[in-house]
Amino acid sequence: MSLTASIRAIHNRMIAACQRCQRDPDNVRLVAVTKTLPASVVAEAVACGLRLFGENRVQEARDKIAELANPALEWHLIGTLQRNKAREAAALFNMVHSVDSIPLAQELHRCVVASGRATPLPILLQVNVGGESQKHGFATMEVAAAVTAVRALSGLDLRGLMTVPPYLEESEAVRPHFRELARLARRLEQETPGLRLAELSMGMSHDFEVAIEEGATLIRVGSALFGARHYP
Ligand SMILES: *Cc1c(COP(=O)(O)O)cnc(C)c1O
Repeated sequence: MSLTASIRAIHNRMIAACQRCQRDPDNVRLVAVTKTLPASVVAEAVACGLRLFGENRVQEARDKIAELANPALEWHLIGTLQRNKAREAAALFNMVHSVDSIPLAQELHRCVVASGRATPLPILLQVNVGGESQKHGFATMEVAAAVTAVRALSGLDLRGLMTVPPYLEESEAVRPHFRELARLARRLEQETPGLRLAELSMGMSHDFEVAIEEGATLIRVGSALFGARHYP
């Protein structure tokens, strides 16, 4: 399938998922995950109308962003961020989905303040909803304290929550994880005056429709758009 056809197919599936749950399709954004893909493929996606891209490594993203050199594009960091890469990440990305510790949030805040960036850096807190020991992210129980800590950091603009659920063959089996993330966001909003966690980053190639039905506002789709990744 051509990239144009894949993009159209994903958009149609997004719209159908929104119709099933009476959501406005404008409230769900497709983050095209371009990790491991060359800048030429990103350029092709841009020619097809995509503007929002997700990368999981700072170094790889830096080279691609420089090669594309297109200020109309939006780049989101979706992968684990080492603290020693925070400065570069804060300079490169429009949003960091993967803030998974208070020290990382503090470091990003320091980098934003030191850089003189005009606006706070939009971030999401990554939540380990499944409680998997090998996964990054705050435990569900820790998120309320993390929200309080992050809201005190002027360099950061907390926009919502993100999760990477366990890979389960049957996409329906992931639904409880998505539902829990959405419930957590709504509960925290109720408990915290003035808090808005509008963004829910959840859903990948094989389960984004279920994620949309459970309230995703950012879906992160790679292989369903670009085909299987080939790691060097
Ligand atoms: C690679 C990646 C994706 C996209 O995965 P696909 O299954 O190819 O859609 C989404 N989120 C994160 C955090 C990733 O690392």
